[in-house]
Amino acid sequence: MRRSFRSTSPEATEALGEHIGRLAPCGTVLTLDGDLGAGKTTLVRGIARGLGLGDDVSSPTYILMQAHEGGRLPLYHFDAWMEGREKALLAEGADEFLGHDGLAVVEWADRVEDWLPLPRLAVVLAHVDPETRRVDLRLVAADRGEASHLEGALEGLLAGIQPSEGLEEAPGAVPAPENS
Ligand code: ADP
Ligand code: MG
Repeated sequence: MRRSFRSTSPEATEALGEHIGRLAPCGTVLTLDGDLGAGKTTLVRGIARGLGLGDDVSSPTYILMQAHEGGRLPLYHFDAWMEGREKALLAEGADEFLGHDGLAVVEWADRVEDWLPLPRLAVVLAHVDPETRRVDLRLVAADRGEASHLEGALEGLLAGIQPSEGLEEAPGAVPAPENS
C-alpha cells in the first residue's frame, strides 16, 4: 500500500507526522529518505508531538540514536547519515530498538535498509519548490507468511491519512516534481 501527498508548508508536513505519531503501533520501524532540507526532521517533530512528547527533536547527526521517553511510546530517532554508520548501527546493538517496543525512526535509511526489519513504513520526501514537498509513504511488507498484526495496523494508519490544510493527495506512481 502506498499514499502520496503534496505538502505546501512545514506545518502540513508536521501535521502528517502527528497523525503517524498518534496511530503508529508499538514496534513500528519508519525509514525517512530525502535530500538535506527535504523535511525529514520536520516530520519527526510532528511524530514526537503525536506521541505526546514535549521534547525538542533535532537531527541526531553526530550521535547514533536519540531516545525520547515519556510519550505514548518511546521514540528512537536514528540518523544513518555519517559514513560508517551502517556498521555502527549493528555493532552498537541498534537491533534492540528496532521493531520491538516503541517507534523507531531512521533518517537517511537507504544505506542501512538491508539491515532493517520488515514490515517497515518507508517515507520519502522530495523538494518540489521552496515551500512544497512531495511525500511518499509506502508499507514494505514481510516477504512471506501471513500479514502480521503490525502490518495490518500500519496499513490502517496509511489508509487513515486525511488531506488537510496544505496537504493534498498527489496521485501518480512516479515521485517526480510536479512542475517539471
Ligand atoms: P531535513 O531533516 O530533511 O534535512 P528539515 O526538516 O530539517 O529537513 O528542514 C526542512 C526545511 O524546509 C525547514 O527549514 C522547513 O521550514 C522548510 N520547508 C518549507 N516547506 C516545507 C514543507 N512543505 N515541508 C517541510 N519542510 C518545509
Ligand atoms: Mg534532518
